[in-house]
Amino acid sequence: MLELRPTCEQCNKTLPPASTEAMICSYECTYCRDCVDALHNVCPNCGGGFTARPIRPAHAWRPGVSLSDQPATRTVTHKPVDLAAHARFAAQLEGWAPEQR
Ligand SMILES: [Zn+2]
Ligand SMILES: [Zn+2]
Repeated sequence: MLELRPTCEQCNKTLPPASTEAMICSYECTYCRDCVDALHNVCPNCGGGFTARPIRPAHAWRPGVSLSDQPATRTVTHKPVDLAAHARFAAQLEGWAPEQR
């Protein structure tokens, strides 16, 4: 199940479950939109691209399936990278869309 992490891994900005600013890679590395731009849409951990994190419904429209049934994790993952060093990493992938990496 998708982990809904509480903050941006780069800047530690709060990203509540209903945030439309939260972006994730396929490994659920979670960043805010501003940091995804600063990272050139290259995940520092895997090199993949990002997509908007889906919003888990707050209301149980189906029994047992909602944010209160499967709450967001409280574990903060804050592992900021040096943006200059990351830019060199991301430069290798310049021009490669996420689906080509
Ligand atoms: Zn951020
Ligand atoms: Zn990643």
